[in-house]
Amino acid sequence: MQTHQYDAIIVGAGGAGLMAALYASKGGANVAVVSKLYPTRSHTGAALGGIGAALGNLDEDKPLWHAYDTVKGGDYLADQNAAKVLAENAVDAVIELEHMGLPFDRTPEGRISQRRFGGHTSNFGEKPVRRACHAADRTGHMILQTLYQQCIKNDVKFFDEFHVVDVIMNQGACVGVVAIQLGTGEFHVFHGKATLFATGGWGRVWRITSNAHSLTGDGAAVVYRRGIPMQDMEFFQFHPTGLYGLGVLLTEGIRGEGGILLNKNGERFMEKYAPKIKDLASRDVVSRSIYLEVRDGLGIGGKDYVHLDIRPSTVNRYLAEAGETRRVDDAYIARALAETLDVCRTYAGVDPLTEPMPIQPTAHYAMGGIPTNVDAEVVMDENWTVLPGMYAAGEVACVSCHGANRLGTNSLVDLVVFGRRGGIKIAEYVKGADLIPLPANPAGEIEAEFKRLRTSKGKTRAYELRKQMQKVMMDNVGVFREESAMKEAVKQVQELRERYQTDLAFDDNGYQYNTDLMEAWELGCLLDLAEVTAISALNRTESRGGHSREDYQKRDDDNWLVHTLAYRKSEIAYPVTPPEVELNINKKVDMSLADEDPRFLPKERAY
Ligand SMILES: Cc1cc2nc3c(=O)[nH]c(=O)nc-3n(C[C@H](O)[C@H](O)[C@H](O)COP(=O)(O)OP(=O)(O)OC[C@H]3O[C@@H](n4cnc5c(N)ncnc54)[C@H](O)[C@@H]3O)c2cc1C
Repeated sequence: MQTHQYDAIIVGAGGAGLMAALYASKGGANVAVVSKLYPTRSHTGAALGGIGAALGNLDEDKPLWHAYDTVKGGDYLADQNAAKVLAENAVDAVIELEHMGLPFDRTPEGRISQRRFGGHTSNFGEKPVRRACHAADRTGHMILQTLYQQCIKNDVKFFDEFHVVDVIMNQGACVGVVAIQLGTGEFHVFHGKATLFATGGWGRVWRITSNAHSLTGDGAAVVYRRGIPMQDMEFFQFHPTGLYGLGVLLTEGIRGEGGILLNKNGERFMEKYAPKIKDLASRDVVSRSIYLEVRDGLGIGGKDYVHLDIRPSTVNRYLAEAGETRRVDDAYIARALAETLDVCRTYAGVDPLTEPMPIQPTAHYAMGGIPTNVDAEVVMDENWTVLPGMYAAGEVACVSCHGANRLGTNSLVDLVVFGRRGGIKIAEYVKGADLIPLPANPAGEIEAEFKRLRTSKGKTRAYELRKQMQKVMMDNVGVFREESAMKEAVKQVQELRERYQTDLAFDDNGYQYNTDLMEAWELGCLLDLAEVTAISALNRTESRGGHSREDYQKRDDDNWLVHTLAYRKSEIAYPVTPPEVELNINKKVDMSLADEDPRFLPKERAY
């Protein structure tokens, strides 16, 4: 086994990991990025619509309005100090990306172009504002390419196709990770003063998802198994517009450009549910509205999907109705939504310029995750106790600036803002901190676990268990939830975990690129996170943001303005026996903006 030593180890090479690596290295740290994917294949590259920042290039805008929308969109579960940092830091983060060479679309005057996105408004909810900065509909791709180039320029060392499978703790601190080199099957130990997790989300827990195959929540699961809590796991966002049957994301930018949702009678049904902001209401609201239409038999052809229409004739009709002077044509749509057109033509055989797109809600974004403060330091409890040496940023982290529901364009902001803050903090930390030695045999337990998996002589293939988990989580812990269905989900997930332990079978016993084995290992991570999600959801007896209960339909601010912290009780990480989950709901939501300005106090969300 090889051991590598760096000041800082960044796990994950998406937007958050690259930004953290860049800033840690700029601050003088010697940095290694360990990634299971080649960096530019990270899911950040799939982000389409844009990155929100109150630049005010086209409409008057202020960071405080952005913070307000973030808090309100998050249904008041967002920590307000974090939402403020997000909105304020967004402005110079975007300008910095521009200076690094990111090719943003431009206004005729040459400034960064901005467009509308759901839930983003001016003057505390008065009217929609153009805040999303974009490079056509490939914003994430451009961010990833730009940051990767900058990292190379700054001599960041990359370990590509190294799959992290365990975190190493010693003397109450995080001292590194264990990874498997996919090309050889060898174990490697990465030893450092600071380790930052930027491993992205876990949409693959659900059957219909916009998330790439690789989004299996490994980073969250490995730290959870070593005693780090998972925060607010009941909040998982379903994006309203996934391509029917596949879940592939159709960006909210389509509605930002004027796209309209229609039911089988051609009615613009969002007028019923959000009379003011209509199709641009926040994602939880739109996803629920689609479900309700479908439930009322108003899905297209009586099925479980509706239409999203971006045909210029439709868009122009509604623009005229709204008294707007703007008009669009085929050439404009083809340019502004190039990727969307390509995806629909390729995967659905639908040409959005001539026919409406079939869409249904798709599991999209983890609001919950590893709890951190605004400097990306991992915190262990309701007293914000920092765990030395461990950091998290991006989708895997829960800062929590998104609260119960994330607004579109705010994830890309989160990556660059908190990735950068984490990198800066790490550079400071490694200057003063001593290198804590590795414990004896740091990879021993995880090597034994892989040996056990590899020699498993059961009958079931991992994908069969995965399919069952995805189905029960989609049906029972999806857009709408209620007690008995969630209890059933917990039971089934626990049974699946039992079978995972005892009944797996493998076709491949090799060491080089053994995807059979690695996918099984990823399934173990998904099962842990599915269980924590269902248990946290069952415990929260209210509806808020992305967590919508039929048996508790109201938001309950008296009892539930708190974060959920879920801990795994067991002392041993491996083998992963069915973990008992312990919940703590004493971590209060930060209300610091409301202390100064009553407009930040929780109120009914009216659209
Ligand atoms: C289709 C789609 C469109 C989106 N559009 C937008 C948008 O327009 N605006 C917006 O704000 N947000 C958008 N989002 C959300 C946003 O893109 C993601 O939340 C964000 O990119 C996550 O970035 P990240 O850096 O946290 O992780 P990712 O970009 O997902 O990267 C994760 C990294 O972790 C690595 N990794 C994972 N597990 C391991 C392991 N075990 N060992 C080693 N490495 C590991 C991977 O190799 C990868 O490099 C979109 C998401 C999707 C899926």
